[in-house]
Amino acid sequence: MKSNMIVSVRGRYVITHEGEVLRDKAVVFEENRILAVTDVGRDVEYKPEEIVERKHHIVMPGFIDCHTHTQQILLRTSISDRELPLPPIWTRYLIPFERMLDDDLAYLSSLLSIAGKISSGVVYFVEAGAPRPYALIKALKETKMQGAVTMSTFDVLDGETPNTREVLEEVERLLAHRSEGNDVWISIRQVTMATRELIEKLRDLALKHNVGLTLHLSEYQGEVDYTLASYGMRPLEFIDHIGLTRVKPLVIAHGVYLSEAEINIVKNKNLGICWCPTVDSLVMGEHWIPLSYDDLLFGVGSDGGAFTNLDILHELKVARALGKAINASLKYDKTSLDSKTLFKAATGWGGSIVGRRIGLKPGDEASFIVINHKNIKTIPLYDPVEAVVSFIEGESVTDVIVRGNFLKKNGALTTIDKEKLENLIIELIPKLEEKIYELKIKLPIQNIYSRRALYS
Ligand SMILES: [Zn+2]
Repeated sequence: MKSNMIVSVRGRYVITHEGEVLRDKAVVFEENRILAVTDVGRDVEYKPEEIVERKHHIVMPGFIDCHTHTQQILLRTSISDRELPLPPIWTRYLIPFERMLDDDLAYLSSLLSIAGKISSGVVYFVEAGAPRPYALIKALKETKMQGAVTMSTFDVLDGETPNTREVLEEVERLLAHRSEGNDVWISIRQVTMATRELIEKLRDLALKHNVGLTLHLSEYQGEVDYTLASYGMRPLEFIDHIGLTRVKPLVIAHGVYLSEAEINIVKNKNLGICWCPTVDSLVMGEHWIPLSYDDLLFGVGSDGGAFTNLDILHELKVARALGKAINASLKYDKTSLDSKTLFKAATGWGGSIVGRRIGLKPGDEASFIVINHKNIKTIPLYDPVEAVVSFIEGESVTDVIVRGNFLKKNGALTTIDKEKLENLIIELIPKLEEKIYELKIKLPIQNIYSRRALYS
């Protein structure tokens, strides 16, 4: 795109990051910033070089996926009810798989994840910890997608003790690769997988370089027992005690097993919780967010393509049903966790949590999406917010603008050859099947596997 190019995107409805619905408006942007939301017709006053006409469409801020694993997607459909109960699944299955990836596979995996995100309207994501972060940086640059890259960081794993100093050096080397628009953050895989020394030094690195940090926290009961036994505190109390909560942005993934006192820390310190409705339910249990979301900033995450289709629009439907079920069964209240709250969580609040101004106000990042609501699955439409939260899925996203670049236009990806990528992945299946088999026969549940039974 030429510099200073002004573009207007017209829609039947515009939904702001606050969930306010406007009719027959145009979103005008210049380079990577929003200029205005104005009436269709008045947008010409900005002298746009291009007017994108979308007659049956909703224009809205893009989705933030606040927790994802771009390099686990090649495990897709390999995790059944047999693997889910593995104690814990990440050290037994997910991390060993990540270690099998070479640079080429990690790059393809990143590309497939990015393609899935762009397709369904995600404009920014937080990588939870990639085994090969440079492959992710390469894929982000090529596709012009935006995200916070992190490296899978730990110094304790099933008796292995990676050298803490070497781990820290690797993290610091990676931090040198951040660039305008593209973030490199720090990740802590799990407090159970990191020595106190590593956690404290990663905190210092984040503060020194002024970068964000993300970690899996309070995601299983053994972890709560572990920090109580090791530090005399629950996980969030511990990281708060050592000052990790001074790091901003700080994205806490899951946080399913937070106590009342820990939820108060979240609220008082304005910490961001990333709720992953599908995966938290599959692997962990009911989340407390539907019961206690007042005065709380939370976002919505996919937790990666191994468990989900990466569609935040789909996650919203799961979140809504879960939220209603929990509130109805405990309080017989069907009004809690309303659709507008969920809309804000997946867009503007998610942006605040990750430290990016993604909205439709002048000066906000031009990272927004267009959704076609003329669809047999979504008509008739009276309330666009209800349509987004309860009915529309990723296939209806027609345009995705990320920092002023159209990464999806009129239904087609612009920076990724979708068919070529699909074919490449399909060709790889026999090779991947071998790797997955090698992994599965080593699992503590190996006796149920045989080469023939694995995929039948
Ligand atoms: Zn995760």
